[in-house]
Amino acid sequence: MKKVALVFVLAVLVPSLVLAWLALRSQRDLQFLFERQQTLLCQRVTDELAQNIFNHIARQQQEFGALVEQLIPPTNALAGAARFDATLRQQWPLAEVGFCVTQTGQILAPAATKGGGADRFLRDNGGFLANREAVQLYGGNTYNNQIIINAGNFSGQNVLPQAALNSYADNQAKTAEQSAATVGQTNAETGQQKLNYSAGKSQQRLVNPQYYTGSQQSEPNPAMDNNTSRVVPAEADFRQFIGDQPDGLLARFLQNKLHLMFWHRLSGDPSFIFGAQLDLTRTIAGLRGLVQVAPELREQICLVLLDDRARPVVVSREGFAADWKRPFVATEIGEALPHWEIAAYLVNPAQLTQAARSARVTLGLLIVVLLLAIGVGSWLIGRSLNAELKLARQKTDFVSNVSHELKTPLTSIRMFSELLADGRVTEPAKQKSYLNIISAEAARLTRLINNVLDFSRLESGEKKYNFQPCDLTALVCGTAEMFRPHLEASGFQFDCALPDAAIPVRADSDALAQVIVNLLSNAEKYSNGGKEITLHLGRKESPVPHAEITVSDRGLGVPRGSEEKIFEKFYRAHDSLSSGIQGSGLGLTIARQIARAHGGDVVHEPRAGGGSSFVLRLPISTTDGHG
Ligand code: ADP
Repeated sequence: MKKVALVFVLAVLVPSLVLAWLALRSQRDLQFLFERQQTLLCQRVTDELAQNIFNHIARQQQEFGALVEQLIPPTNALAGAARFDATLRQQWPLAEVGFCVTQTGQILAPAATKGGGADRFLRDNGGFLANREAVQLYGGNTYNNQIIINAGNFSGQNVLPQAALNSYADNQAKTAEQSAATVGQTNAETGQQKLNYSAGKSQQRLVNPQYYTGSQQSEPNPAMDNNTSRVVPAEADFRQFIGDQPDGLLARFLQNKLHLMFWHRLSGDPSFIFGAQLDLTRTIAGLRGLVQVAPELREQICLVLLDDRARPVVVSREGFAADWKRPFVATEIGEALPHWEIAAYLVNPAQLTQAARSARVTLGLLIVVLLLAIGVGSWLIGRSLNAELKLARQKTDFVSNVSHELKTPLTSIRMFSELLADGRVTEPAKQKSYLNIISAEAARLTRLINNVLDFSRLESGEKKYNFQPCDLTALVCGTAEMFRPHLEASGFQFDCALPDAAIPVRADSDALAQVIVNLLSNAEKYSNGGKEITLHLGRKESPVPHAEITVSDRGLGVPRGSEEKIFEKFYRAHDSLSSGIQGSGLGLTIARQIARAHGGDVVHEPRAGGGSSFVLRLPISTTDGHG
């Protein structure tokens, strides 16, 4: 039993419990996985869109460069410069102001017109374009030492994909820690040319996404947490800023308003630099078509272009509102639109937790069912194992009991018959007593063998009954009187109370006699010195007319809790070891089976004043002549 239990624990219980524990653990990670999955998906969308917007602006810059080359005759750049502002605005709707400046800082366009846009432009940018003052600038002309992957058909080398921009920002941040660098200095470690102006300070992002994926950072950079803007301004005048690059874009904030400019060095005469300040409203209008959500995600997320103060500029979903500063994820667009971001908001934020919760509930239920199945299965296995073991033990006991029961009477029979055969016992009274013992022991043997044979017939379903109408009173009387000499010889007082009238039953009289003998024999066996046995036969009318044969003794009584078990095969409430009483555990089993085959039953009833009563009930026959 111990071995089986150990195998069960090692092969079934422990692995099942480990599995259940692992399932429980994975259940805890589910929510996190769900969020992570969603975050990565959204982050990819915002990263791509930010890149697209960047590329879009880059293409416009290329368009501008081509236009300059087309508008300005290389042989007479000066004349072209004079007309540039007006011509450009006429030809290119994105232009707010067209300007031209020489390498030495001479502003050739726009011409100042009192109160006009040109006038304000010159007031704002004159000093910086003429290289007289350094201002905070963002832009794309400073990547000369970066690896450049040209995202569009862009003529210059200044358009960088997002990754390059980020590493540019990293460089900028590092440079910010050092003092201002000067042109032409070479970094001994990297061999890179240092930036030709001082870097401004990096700033915090206004937008604070709920989730960071870390996808934008190829490797962790402790100097830049996720909420630090990757776009860092530089402090420079125009010439410092553009260096000797052919073209580029620059952005600056004036009174908290973003100004975006393109510039292009005339290929025929590089000392002329033409530029345009963009009309921001029109530029944004051009982006509207890009801020779209793919149809499969339309019900899940809303994409928003946020300006540098985290105000929505383009919203992909009409009527959508949220805490704009707390998107689900967001990506900075970069140098082209500094501190502007593409943010993704969940249309139904509860959906994420709902989906995770329902997945968790399903898994939780599965775990509960699994544990229940393990529990119930273990219990059933344990129970049937126990029953099997009990039966096996009872069978072993049965074999040893039966052998013992066969041996005891056989020994007595042999001993007394030898004594008589030797002729040593001459007294007739003694001879009679010995013969009585021999016949009683032979009867006991017969009973035992009958019981064993009957039991095997009953078990295999081969037992045949010969039902005949008969008188129960006569049958009980005959059996009792047959047993009386044996009881009285053993010193028992045997009272037999029978009715005068016949009780008609339909029965197999041999089988019924065997039941009565079994009950009387038990009353004798378990008498424990209380040598008083009564047999009573009576008629009962309720609930249906039936006969009751009651065999009562003043013996050991049936222990509490065993009242039903004593009718199970091989079960013994008083085993041979503790009580010294031999038995096979079959007598009552056979008695009950025979009684039930007659439509009746045998039950145990505790007896007031000690001992026990066994009642055999049988239906009274009404159909034949005896009824
Ligand atoms: P056994 O051969 O052991 O007597 P039985 O099937 O006749 O087998 O009885 C089953 C058990 O019921 C006995 O082992 C005994 O413990 C209990 N029993 C039967 N008859 C009596 C009785 N008259 N008094 C007390 N216990 C009894």
